[in-house]
Amino acid sequence: MKYYDKLIFDLSRDGRQGYSLPSYRWESSSKDIPSGLSRQKAPALPQVSELDVVRHYTNLSQMNFGVDSGFYPLGSCTMKYNPKINEEIASHPGFSGLHPMQPACTVQGALRVYKELSEALSAITGMARFTLNPFAGAHGELTGLMVIRQYHMSRGDIARTRIIVPDSAHGTNPASAAVCGLEIVQVKSKENGLVDVEDLKPLLDETIAGIMMTNPNTLGLFEKDIKEIASLVHECGGLLYYDGANMNPLLGVVRPGDMGFDVMHLNLHKTFSTPHGGGGPGAGPVGVAAHLASCLPVPRVSEDEDGTLYLDGCDDACGMISGFMGNFGVLLRAYAYILMLGRQNVRMAGPLSVLGANYIKESLKDCFELPIPGICKHEFVFDGLRDKSTDVTTLDVAKRLLDYGFHAPTIYFPLLFHQAIMIEPTETESKETLDGFIDIMKKIAAEALEDPQSLKTAPHTTPVRRLDETTAARQPVLRYKDMSDIS
Ligand SMILES: *Cc1c(COP(=O)(O)O)cnc(C)c1O
Repeated sequence: MKYYDKLIFDLSRDGRQGYSLPSYRWESSSKDIPSGLSRQKAPALPQVSELDVVRHYTNLSQMNFGVDSGFYPLGSCTMKYNPKINEEIASHPGFSGLHPMQPACTVQGALRVYKELSEALSAITGMARFTLNPFAGAHGELTGLMVIRQYHMSRGDIARTRIIVPDSAHGTNPASAAVCGLEIVQVKSKENGLVDVEDLKPLLDETIAGIMMTNPNTLGLFEKDIKEIASLVHECGGLLYYDGANMNPLLGVVRPGDMGFDVMHLNLHKTFSTPHGGGGPGAGPVGVAAHLASCLPVPRVSEDEDGTLYLDGCDDACGMISGFMGNFGVLLRAYAYILMLGRQNVRMAGPLSVLGANYIKESLKDCFELPIPGICKHEFVFDGLRDKSTDVTTLDVAKRLLDYGFHAPTIYFPLLFHQAIMIEPTETESKETLDGFIDIMKKIAAEALEDPQSLKTAPHTTPVRRLDETTAARQPVLRYKDMSDIS
């Protein structure tokens, strides 16, 4: 253990301090605090110098892995590089100092950003109108499903309480549908990983509210029957929901609105570059076709004839799904990112992300099992090592990658393959980085045969080795504890 791996509490010495504040000039007001609420003892904070604090946080940051420290090919998560200018713009005091209760006439600039970002997303996706209020992808799914339900209800079509979800869907899809009070009907995938249209047909009747689709789906495959699926679902009176969390490969190439989708969400924190490790922050804007615009949640941003922006509501709305106007800092990052790329370069993101994924897939398919061959979109899935004569698993490969300075891909998802390794390089990586990753993956495949034990015991070089992942997720230790307390 290195000296500075010590927790900062262990370095604490009475009376040492890392700050100096001007002496307090006012009479103590502690008598105004009810005695039951006032603190009896000083808080047990570490007493350390400024230098100790700097080293503490710098060392903590180095114990983690981020896009800024290395390649992070986590499938379905789009860990692309987040340009630092986005951070600067999001933290500009003119934005970060706003209060959500300010009258609209004092926040015209912020409302203008909201409106212009909505319009840019409409242009990119082909949807008529957007709300930017939802806080995450799953929150956007719930909002979009509420819009669908509101649409059917407002037409007196009250029997539509069932929603079709493919077996390859992201887990949030059925979860959001359940929260929305819809009954979930599963449609199967074919051998080639695409939705089985023949399995879909008998499911369609007057109880179907719609279908949720991800395209490209979680296997990174484009659902090429989408036009037929759209007309079948529309014929039976249902609506099409598009899970656009992974819109990256389609940027500038295809628009969900043109494929026949009625409602969709985007994950700004994936496709439009907000750092999103550890569960947040995010934004899941929802776009709808023109006939559903009145069902979007409130508040909304509208514009007077003289160009003044104001917030308004409407009777058909599906309600209010968040306090105020969403995660504004994330909206600012997306707005800055889109403006910085411009129309021409937004068009490059999709094809480049697809090129990178196919390059890795083709380079590694001799060492790793490729269950569905052919061209993928922005990501693809291997089913473990090609040579399965050893007991080396996908988990071992993932752990070994950490030793070589790469974050592991997504593993054991999607559930369609037992040893799934889901790789998404994104468009922001250079060919040299992709080549480096390919070399290491080949090296690991060779190690699996020559020295399987080194994989079984990996990682060897990280600050913590193999964790009990269930306990780490369910009972995380997030506060300092005297080590003798931890059994
Ligand atoms: C990430 C993801 C989601 C969920 O988004 P969150 O912001 O994590 O709620 C939904 N669908 C797909 C396909 C995703 O990749």
